[in-house]
Amino acid sequence: MARGGLNKRSLIHLIIYMYHHIKKLMYTVRVGKPDPAFGNMLLEQFGGANGELAAAMQYSIQGLNCDDPERKDLLLDIGTEELSHLEVVGTLARMHLKPIKNNRDAAFADPLIAIAGGGGVALMNSMGDAWTADYLKITGELDVDLRSNIAAEARAKIVYERLIAYTDDQGTIDTLQFLMSREITHLKAFTAALESMGKPKFSIGTIPPTAELVNQYFNDSTGVGDRGEPDARGPWNEGGDWEFVHAPAFQEFESAQAGSRATNSGLQLAETAGSSGAPKSNGKTAKTDLNSRPRLNH
Ligand code: MN
Ligand code: MN
Repeated sequence: MARGGLNKRSLIHLIIYMYHHIKKLMYTVRVGKPDPAFGNMLLEQFGGANGELAAAMQYSIQGLNCDDPERKDLLLDIGTEELSHLEVVGTLARMHLKPIKNNRDAAFADPLIAIAGGGGVALMNSMGDAWTADYLKITGELDVDLRSNIAAEARAKIVYERLIAYTDDQGTIDTLQFLMSREITHLKAFTAALESMGKPKFSIGTIPPTAELVNQYFNDSTGVGDRGEPDARGPWNEGGDWEFVHAPAFQEFESAQAGSRATNSGLQLAETAGSSGAPKSNGKTAKTDLNSRPRLNH
């Protein structure tokens, strides 16, 4: 058994709360030909809004705040892996930015890194904006945080995909493919963790939404645009328990207290006047024509 009164379990807990750096990259980075402009783009994943430091800090601090021991472990596992990603992407960026140090032409790719940073990476995005804790989404509500994390992983994935499209260097592509794949791993884990909490899909927090209001879809953007942009219907506003409210600004309250609107309280709307903005002449009198800017007594 353990020394100093520590049993095996508390030793494991000590390990969870301790950082230890091992001088070994999570993925071996190889670069054929440095490309300083691409190195600048890579900074987006180093010190950018959807980058690795943001991910590492978001999950680690969420984990620190988490009272659910199992999901806390998940958050700390992935938060720590993101720090390893930061090291990998930072190493990759540094290899691409290296020529900036001594080459004036290369320095144009990122004058800030060249002049202020001496060719080394800094916690900035590709435009030189300093990393900020404002990037982090930490609410202290586990299921809400997990949703933020799922979205963050999706953003990180798409940024890696775009970076891959902008390089021909095979070693660079291999590294980015590794990092991109891990973001999908995280997306899967966060999604499973959220689902395993067993909360109904649209249940957030404790106060239920107002019953009359919650299923009303407000069609607040109406008409057909110049390029034929439709007034669309789909599963996001029809079927199920959806109640479609056409142009709620022109409708009476159904319940002033609930804030719900009458679905179509006697108003006939001329929606098909088209791009000319002229009222449709169809023999009927349209009481309200959204394209002809009706005067309302409000
Ligand atoms: Mn990552
Ligand atoms: Mn990730």
